[in-house]
Amino acid sequence: MAVLMLLPYQRILLKLSGEVLMGQLSAGIDPQQLAYYAEEIAKVKRLGVELAIVIGGGNLYRGVQALGLGIARVQGDYMGMLATVMNGLALQSALEHRGISTRLMAGLAMEQVCETYIHAKAIRQLEKGRVVILVAGMGRPYCTTDSAASLRAIELGADVLLKATKVDGIYTDDPSDNPAAVRLEGITFQEVYQQKLQVMDMTAFTLCEENNLPIIVFDSSRPDNLLKLVQREKVGTLVSREK
Ligand code: UDP
Repeated sequence: MAVLMLLPYQRILLKLSGEVLMGQLSAGIDPQQLAYYAEEIAKVKRLGVELAIVIGGGNLYRGVQALGLGIARVQGDYMGMLATVMNGLALQSALEHRGISTRLMAGLAMEQVCETYIHAKAIRQLEKGRVVILVAGMGRPYCTTDSAASLRAIELGADVLLKATKVDGIYTDDPSDNPAAVRLEGITFQEVYQQKLQVMDMTAFTLCEENNLPIIVFDSSRPDNLLKLVQREKVGTLVSREK
C-alpha cells in the first residue's frame, strides 16, 4: 500500500508578535528570546523553505496605549509601526549573525533604514532564499500586524500562515479561566465564528477565510515546533475551510 508522504511547506509566512521577543521582561527585547527565535528560524531556513516573517511591536508600543497618554490614535499607531521596525532590525541582525541572508521590508518608506515593501521584490527575495522580514505592518493606522500577516501571506502566495503564540493552540475556552477547556487539533473558519473563539483579529481572520489560507496557531516557545510544523507534523491547531 502506498504511503502518502506530505512534502514540507514550500513558502510560509510566520507571524511573530512583539511579545514573544519580550520573554519575562515587562517590555523590550530579551536578548535570550531574540537568540532563541533566530535559531528556530535558522533551522527552518536550512531546510530550504521560503520564509517571510511579519513582526509585531506590542513589546515596545501599541497605538491604543497612546490614547491614555494624550497622544491621538493615528500618531500612536505610527509609533506602534515604528516599534515593529525596531523589532525587525533586531531580528535581522540576529539572523545575519547566524549566516542567514535577509531583507527587511517596510510598509512605510524609510529608505535609510530598509527597503519599502514591493510585492514583486519580496517574491524575488524569497525565491533567492532570503528571509524576508516585513515591518511597519500595512503602513496605515487602525490596522494591526495580524492584518498585515494575512494580507502579505496571501499576496506572497504562502502555503500557510503560522501564528506564533505562547499557548499550544486554540482551546474551546480560555484555559487560564476554565480548566475544562479543551485544545482543538483542527477547526474550520465557520466553527471559529460560531463558537466566538479568538484566533487573531477579525479583519485578519476574515481575509484568510475569504482567500482559503490555512492558519496554524502554535506554541513557539517549544524548541523545534516551527521546524516540525514546516515538515507538516501536527503541532498546534489548524484552522481551515474543511476539517
Ligand atoms: N500598527 C498600525 N498599522 C499596522 C500595523 C501595526 O497602526 O498596519 C500599529 C498599531 O498601533 C499596533 C502596533 O503598531 O498596536 C503594533 O502592532 P501589533 O499590536 O499588531 O503588534 P503585536 O501585537 O503583534 O506585537
